[in-house]
Amino acid sequence: MEERGSPDGDPARNLEQGPEGPETPIQVVLRVRPMSAAELRRGEQSVLHCSGTRTLQVSPPGGGPDVAFRFGAVLDGARTQEDVFRACGVRRLGDLALRGFSCTVFTFGQTGSGKTYTLTGPPPQGEGVPVPPSLAGITQRTFAWLLDRVQHLGAPVTLHASYLEIYNEQVRDLLSLGAPRPLPVRWNKTRGFYVEHLRVVEFGSLGALMELLQMGLSRRRSSAHTMNQASSRSHALLTLYISHQTVSQMPPVDTGEPPAGGKLCFVDLAGSEKVTATGSRGELMIEANSINRSLLALGHCISLLLDPQRKQNHIPFRDSKLTKLLADSLGGRGVTLMVACVSPSAQCLPETLSTLRYASRAQRITTRPQAPKSPVAKPPQHLETELLQLQEENHRLRSQLGQMDPKASGLIGARVSWAQRNLYGMLQEFMLENERLRKEKRQLQSSRDLAQDEQRILAQQVHELERRLLSACYLHQPGPGPAPPCPCVMVPPPPCHALPPLCPCPCCHLCPLCQAPLAHWACPRRELHLPQVFGSKAPADIPLSARPPPWVPPCSPGSAKCSRERSHSDWIQTQVLAEMLTKEEVVPSAPPLPMGPLNTSPVLRGGAAVPNLARRLEALKDQIGSSLGRGRSQPPPTEGT
Ligand code: ADP
Ligand code: MG
Repeated sequence: MEERGSPDGDPARNLEQGPEGPETPIQVVLRVRPMSAAELRRGEQSVLHCSGTRTLQVSPPGGGPDVAFRFGAVLDGARTQEDVFRACGVRRLGDLALRGFSCTVFTFGQTGSGKTYTLTGPPPQGEGVPVPPSLAGITQRTFAWLLDRVQHLGAPVTLHASYLEIYNEQVRDLLSLGAPRPLPVRWNKTRGFYVEHLRVVEFGSLGALMELLQMGLSRRRSSAHTMNQASSRSHALLTLYISHQTVSQMPPVDTGEPPAGGKLCFVDLAGSEKVTATGSRGELMIEANSINRSLLALGHCISLLLDPQRKQNHIPFRDSKLTKLLADSLGGRGVTLMVACVSPSAQCLPETLSTLRYASRAQRITTRPQAPKSPVAKPPQHLETELLQLQEENHRLRSQLGQMDPKASGLIGARVSWAQRNLYGMLQEFMLENERLRKEKRQLQSSRDLAQDEQRILAQQVHELERRLLSACYLHQPGPGPAPPCPCVMVPPPPCHALPPLCPCPCCHLCPLCQAPLAHWACPRRELHLPQVFGSKAPADIPLSARPPPWVPPCSPGSAKCSRERSHSDWIQTQVLAEMLTKEEVVPSAPPLPMGPLNTSPVLRGGAAVPNLARRLEALKDQIGSSLGRGRSQPPPTEGT
């Protein structure tokens, strides 16, 4: 719980803000250690003064202008370890780690500035002697706070820990069962940079965790030099893995996969050092060079990360093992807290200013915190499949829309979805309309075909009948000489056919079937007799083919039916001829017909009459054939017969 009355209340409250935004800056707090006894003995002066809880004033010894630096919190030498723990904001990171985020706390500064002290307290006074609780650093306090938090959560939480150091650019496992040996740093897409074969140990109590910490601290390389009697010669990374899975759901540790869930990593960097100042020789100098090189790489990455064009920039995280393992914390998805440590002594001013500048700049670096997806929260298989199908359909529809109308593809956002909805609605309507029209067209076509077939058959029949009738007439023509007397004055018409009244002309011909005289229009010379038939009323301008047969009653002038009946005269003439030849009534079957079953459509009437016509045609052929045969066997009629 935050202590509102405490001097570190304000900055801590700011640090409690979660990474709700898309980007979160690296949080930086400054810790100024007290002047050491040795420094005081040498008469060195303090050049650093805290101004409030966030600002540090640097007063150069030569009397130059003060330089001010502002951080999330500034904690001077009077602050206890507990104050630092409460003010630095590490508890926010602990909470985020419990929620699945990847969090990092790292100390930064010159050698002897108090980094290790801040994180883990003073160096152990002897083998197996624990750090006094009052001097315990951020790490131990966070352990205690976190385990307490986990206990009160009520949900099952599994805790693991790993501990490694980077010594002379080699990664060594501080929790390895045997002697530490170098481990490779690898990279893959899901994990980013990681240490292969690193031992991850499960622990269930604060005591067990403290033991792991002590084990690592005791194995970590440290040496004495003039500026620090227990100088860390390596960068150390202690990581807690917090998982909400049960043990049975956890992957086995020897697979090399870390437990899924949140992470909280404590990084104690080795301090930069001036070899001339520390007096390092031999192995110490090699270590110092290695430390400086990796810190230089870290500084370079920080500089590039601060560049506004950093999205285009390549950040050289691969330049050192340290930057590889901090890549996610600095420029990735982690939440990061930097504790910059400085010495107040005027002798350390150049390194102090350098640290302050780097720390100030690091505050402007942002990360994009993202909780790793828990396998427990994975959607069921059928939902995943459905999602994939929807995505595919969406993609296909989008491409179809793009092909349909280039203008539509240019629409954006809401307009695109609007256009999609309306275009597809219109498309559907058009498809239905097209289908309906196609069906209608098919019906009309079949009706038309039926009518055409029937018309063609009828035309053939009429043509054939006319041809046969005329040829029969010519066959039985008596030849040149005086025309026989018209039989209508001698004998009544035979009953074989219903002949209309004959004209009185002397040149009428005989029926080829029964030898009865034929009407004048069947006569090859009929035109000569027309004036007698039509008399003075015969219209001279009507062609012969359009003139009605003589038995058709003359139409009264002004009659509405007149023109229609006359226009069908040919058909009537043909019908009578057919009836005469077949001795049956010919049922008309195709338009234009003035008679017949008028209550049915022409198409249906014609369709039903076709088989009937075929039968009658056959009968007609037979009759014509037999009549022709009879006509040939009989002698032509002679005068007086
Ligand atoms: P670094 O890790 O930065 O090289 P250390 O943490 O080892 O430096 O600190 C160097 C010395 O200063 C140690 O002896 C340590 O006990 C002491 N020291 C550092 N910070 C403090 C502090 N805040 N209070 C008291 N002693 C401190
Ligand atoms: Mg140290």
